[in-house]
Amino acid sequence: MISFLDLKKINAQYEQELKNAAIRVIDSGWYLMGKELETFEQNYSTFCGTKYSLGVANGLDALRLIFKAYIELGIMKVGDEVIVPANTYIASVLAISDNGLIPVFVEPNRNTYNLDSSKIESVITSRTKAILTVHLYGQNSIDDKMLAICEKHQLKLIEDSAQSHGAVWNGKVMGSIGDAAGHSFYPGKNLGALGDAGAVTTNDETLAKTIEALRNYGSLKKYENIYQGLNSRLDEIQAAFLNVKLNYIEKDISERRRVANYYLDNIKNPEIILPEVLSEEGHVWHLFVIRSKDRVNFQKYMETNGVQTIIHYPIPPHKQKCYKEMNSMYFELTEQIHNEVVSLPISPVLTEAELCKIVNLINSF
Ligand SMILES: *Cc1c(COP(=O)(O)O)cnc(C)c1O
Repeated sequence: MISFLDLKKINAQYEQELKNAAIRVIDSGWYLMGKELETFEQNYSTFCGTKYSLGVANGLDALRLIFKAYIELGIMKVGDEVIVPANTYIASVLAISDNGLIPVFVEPNRNTYNLDSSKIESVITSRTKAILTVHLYGQNSIDDKMLAICEKHQLKLIEDSAQSHGAVWNGKVMGSIGDAAGHSFYPGKNLGALGDAGAVTTNDETLAKTIEALRNYGSLKKYENIYQGLNSRLDEIQAAFLNVKLNYIEKDISERRRVANYYLDNIKNPEIILPEVLSEEGHVWHLFVIRSKDRVNFQKYMETNGVQTIIHYPIPPHKQKCYKEMNSMYFELTEQIHNEVVSLPISPVLTEAELCKIVNLINSF
């Protein structure tokens, strides 16, 4: 069986270094807010090209904390609207609604699956305060039009960069283009910890200071609380693992591109729609997502022949039970995409032989 993602094999590449990192933290006797986090924050802000990087507990918290900080700073308030792609993982939407802000959905581009910037202006109201753009599947979602709209309407641009570590647009790394960005280091992400972890990147000093306090009970000085904060810290042991894995991210990205290019060059089946790539450097292939009108049979066929595939994502946020009040909304493209997408195995450790088997199977479906 070719599994969708072999995390054990991925981390086995760095086994000794990861074990050394764990031992270093265990022996240090210091497990939160220490040297490993400080080093990781420096390394990650250098990697992204931002002034600040703040480690937090996970990717959802990174996004929640950005909105919470804007509310604390008086830049947003409960009831304000945030534009978000209808076609995204639920976490993007939860980060908005959790802060009492209203998610306003916009359809994606049919071919890139990312926010369609030509559809943004029609939903802007006097209460619109931000766009949360999602670099879905690892591909940059920002374009000149989106930046111009933010400028014209004075909107904050927030990046959901959970899937796009290291993707580049106009010479800038994802997470350094908008006003702030949330990153996830969930184990299956391109830069994955061995547990939960996340980060906020920004060039805005005031925002960074606010989030630094908010992630730690609203406190910058022990037992003095300036905000009603959260406990959302990045553990030393996870920061130590991330310090190891960040050294290999560029290599991992090129391996992912090798896999993606193999699929793009060799899958030849009119039943299968391949993803559109805007530029080589703009995509880091967190997921390789194809579309099939006959998805149920396609997945069954792959499974029977020893290849695991997964759907990202089966139910769009506005159709989830937790958003009952939105269930009657209709987004044609988003719903079509959700009905047809299938993710093929992709990772830096997928072998040529495995790829060859997968492609041959697809071509004879
Ligand atoms: C994974 C993910 C998140 C949330 O990250 P966690 O670390 O799992 O909390 C947010 N947005 C997108 C698009 C994601 O893929």
